[in-house]
Amino acid sequence: MKKRTFLKTSSTLLAGSLFAPWTACKQSSAPQEEAPVRTNWAGNLTYSTNQLHQPTSVEALQELVLKSEKVRALGSRHCFNRIADSRYSQISLDALPALMEADPAAGTVSTGAALRYGQLCPYLHKQGLAIHNLASLPHISVAGACATGTHGSGVHNGNLSTAVTGMELVRADGELVQLSAATHPTIFPGAVVHLGALGIVTRLQLKVQPAFQMRQMVYQFLPESQLEAHFDQIMSAGYSVSLFTDWQSDTVNQVWIKERLEETRPEAPASEFFGAKLATRNLHPIVELSAENCTEQMGVPGPWYERLPHFRMNFTPSSGKELQTEFFVPQERAVEALAAMRALHREVADLLLISEIRTVAADQLWLSPAYGRPSVAIHFTWKQDRQALDRILPKIESALAPFDMRPHWGKIFGVPAEVLASRYEKMADFRALMKEYDPNGKFKNEFLESVMA
Ligand SMILES: Cc1cc2nc3c(=O)[nH]c(=O)nc-3n(C[C@H](O)[C@H](O)[C@H](O)COP(=O)(O)OP(=O)(O)OC[C@H]3O[C@@H](n4cnc5c(N)ncnc54)[C@H](O)[C@@H]3O)c2cc1C
Repeated sequence: MKKRTFLKTSSTLLAGSLFAPWTACKQSSAPQEEAPVRTNWAGNLTYSTNQLHQPTSVEALQELVLKSEKVRALGSRHCFNRIADSRYSQISLDALPALMEADPAAGTVSTGAALRYGQLCPYLHKQGLAIHNLASLPHISVAGACATGTHGSGVHNGNLSTAVTGMELVRADGELVQLSAATHPTIFPGAVVHLGALGIVTRLQLKVQPAFQMRQMVYQFLPESQLEAHFDQIMSAGYSVSLFTDWQSDTVNQVWIKERLEETRPEAPASEFFGAKLATRNLHPIVELSAENCTEQMGVPGPWYERLPHFRMNFTPSSGKELQTEFFVPQERAVEALAAMRALHREVADLLLISEIRTVAADQLWLSPAYGRPSVAIHFTWKQDRQALDRILPKIESALAPFDMRPHWGKIFGVPAEVLASRYEKMADFRALMKEYDPNGKFKNEFLESVMA
């Protein structure tokens, strides 16, 4: 028996279809009365339109898309670049019924696209289910995260998009289409990480597994020499391992180890880890900030969705007023790439709040930064000074170029389209898919023009 939860309304099942049909409800697709200034979450950019549509039914959404000349989907606004921007209009699905429908027998959940992981995960946990991994924060929308290849950490964990087994989207011609690996085996791996270019995703079907308990430990001051000598071993020391560093000393500031707790009673955490010392209190990755915003550490057991993210749902994640950049390199070259970053430690010192190093398992999703290679993601949280960042960014990007670095689609980067095309072997196939789903470029914006050669 499927277990279903509807936050605002209910719907009925349609046999033979990947997703149940949406219940028709009041159609209201008129642009909202908006405050004159609309920004992304970090406030580092203002969207170029005040036309924000919030349809309350899928039928209204279809009509809106059909009538629109140009439009972009907007998720929870957590990207740092103009990927979600439009000079014409944006559509948020926040007013659609927030459907969550678990199917434990099939090992899937069907979720409304605009739902935040922070809404979906407690529901899943109550059903005895879990997603394989989460980003550092639960505040982001499922559709927005999967559209950009958002990831957590763990050598065996693919990014969040790898959980997608089905999608429902409104195409440029207003048609509501359903895609899955079974029905569209050739193009499905191309459609999952889509950068908002194929249509407005209304629902996603995600792979789930039985719920599990976790604990996380933080170690401080990992000697760089240990990291260089034992990189793979350190990054495999838990289900998910993150390193935080400011590159300013010969130690890594913090190592966060997230362990799955299986049936047996866990041993007490070791007091040392490759020369790093077990922290004696909860810590924020930016050590000066309050750990109140962070998920429980110190080895305290808890449900998967309260340990996999670093930050708690009802608190500000990260620092708030910031910029972010992130680059993926092949894991086999991680030690070299980290050495190249360390060589820039003086140049980043004034602007950097903290860097994070994580692993992402290889996948086959065409535009995933981990496409075809086990990857290491090198992330930077910066003070919010775009001019200073623009001076440093080319140096970082050229230092990582020998490793065929791929940038995070939702963060700030300057890698030009022709270089991206050389680092994504499926880019031409993705452009062909865009042409098929959106022949007149209804969903194209300036960001997409700039990244697609
Ligand atoms: C504090 C902070 C921490 C972060 N931590 C991580 C992390 O741990 N790992 C990581 O990988 N990233 C991280 N990010 C980046 C973030 O997860 C991604 O940028 C993600 O894409 C944000 O999702 P969103 O819903 O806010 O998307 P938005 O910024 O709103 O949109 C992103 C893209 O998704 C598209 N989109 C959104 N909804 C739909 C839809 N319904 N249909 C079609 N397209 C849609 C938009 O058009 C746009 O192209 C972090 C960001 C912040 C601010």
